[in-house]
Amino acid sequence: MADFFLDGEWVSARHGGRREIRCPADGSLVGVVDEATADDTGAAIAAARAAFDSGPWPSTPAPERGDLLLRVAGLIERDRDTYARAESLDTGKRLVESEYDMADIAACFRYFGKLAGQDAGRVVDTGSPDAISRIVYEPVGVCGLITPWNYPLLQAAWKVAPALAAGNTFVLKPSELTPHTAILLMRTLTEAGLPAGVANLVLGAGPGAGAPLSEHPDVDLVSFTGGPATGKRIAATAAATVKKVALELGGKNPNVVFADTDFETAVDYVLTAVFLHSGQVCSAGARLIVQEEMHDDLVAEVVRRAERIRLGGPFDPEAETGPLVSAQHLAKVEKYVETALAEGAVLRTGGRRPDDERLAGGHYYLPTVLDNVKQGSFAVTEESFGPVLTVETFTDEDDAVRIANDTHYGLAGGVFTSDASRAQRVANRLRHGTVWINDFHPYLPQAEWGGFKQSGFGRELGPTGLAEYQEAKHIYQNLRPGPSGWFRK
Ligand code: NAD
Repeated sequence: MADFFLDGEWVSARHGGRREIRCPADGSLVGVVDEATADDTGAAIAAARAAFDSGPWPSTPAPERGDLLLRVAGLIERDRDTYARAESLDTGKRLVESEYDMADIAACFRYFGKLAGQDAGRVVDTGSPDAISRIVYEPVGVCGLITPWNYPLLQAAWKVAPALAAGNTFVLKPSELTPHTAILLMRTLTEAGLPAGVANLVLGAGPGAGAPLSEHPDVDLVSFTGGPATGKRIAATAAATVKKVALELGGKNPNVVFADTDFETAVDYVLTAVFLHSGQVCSAGARLIVQEEMHDDLVAEVVRRAERIRLGGPFDPEAETGPLVSAQHLAKVEKYVETALAEGAVLRTGGRRPDDERLAGGHYYLPTVLDNVKQGSFAVTEESFGPVLTVETFTDEDDAVRIANDTHYGLAGGVFTSDASRAQRVANRLRHGTVWINDFHPYLPQAEWGGFKQSGFGRELGPTGLAEYQEAKHIYQNLRPGPSGWFRK
């Protein structure tokens, strides 16, 4: 099979590299795909450059670009089962979760399809009848789009849809662990009528396949979602050619629970916030910050319920959450918990792989609760990206805000309280890009998504999501051209 998509053709790796993709739930072989070297990615960049510089897409009327995205949304809905199955096999996540993701992905394409061309620019008043001045929006150029493995196609859609709506061409480099839905997306874009060279796909590891996207002078914009260390490296490299850069990085997200919150609601959302997709969610509520008087009861019930969570593979209808994505990631989460315990955290449950024979072939880790973690400690400041909840306490509102903001991350957070005024006050004071009140995790394609502090810069989705992928250009015209007369003749 040829797995790279370059200039409208399926091609193989030039130097013949191949990678096995195995299902994290049981280790079964899902597929073997091409692995790119910098050479392959360079060829993809050249295809995207040519399509931008001389292809029809950038000058296609924006409403027509929008229509294509609407067709893509419909096709993803039509092929939902194929997409969801492929996503679940690559990630190990429950099939039902992949199905939700496909609905979100179709909604994302539909949203940007409708947004395309809505803002045709504006006229600026020059104050003179002899000059006109306008602001127009143009695509940035060739976009390098680099995505992680936790929501593979959703993360790609958040970049591909606005990039296309604005008239750009792109090279997509998904995580090397989860390539299959990106392959399907190329087929869908072609079926929807996208001209050759606009969408290009390479697969493989970051340093080989991905690095050229931040290095190559022919790439104008790099949009990256992934870990903070990789993001910093990409931003530094991209600076050499002054690329536009958007970064969506990690989070260590506070979930602030006041004692006046309905108890059952609090327990339920503490669990959902952190254990959804086994904690492999950038916005996971991994830091429970609970008011002192509620601590003992809440933690006891969270522990009881965490121990009841059924782990299982994508097609286990009883499973509530799945495995970690790889043996390497599982080892990282194990190390994280060991370090936290060595620092003095108190293990309330989990902290190990399950004994269950049924799960022996997969990368499973038990839902884990670490109590009594200290502010500023490793467990509080670093992201585990696994099913690990850390617990801190606070005394009053000021204390809660201070603790919740005491992190170099700023992606998302939650506030649970039955006092509506306090909810708004606390939400206003949290230095996090998204704050949920009495809820956790919902996102809307029409609302901005992005991080404060070291969780990133640039915002995806929402009205400003398209702006990331456009250049605003001011066009001024003197309607009576002639000598300027500025200097004496
Ligand atoms: P990662 O940084 O290891 O990899 C992300 C992507 O970058 C992969 O495609 C990888 O191959 C590529 N990559 C690695 N090195 C590269 C390089 N030098 N040049 C170019 N590309 C390179 O992250 P991950 O483990 O795949 O994902 C987990 C991280 O992603 C977590 O920190 C999580 O919080 C974050 N994340 C953030 C968001 C968000 O919206 N803010 C969403 C999902 C995940």
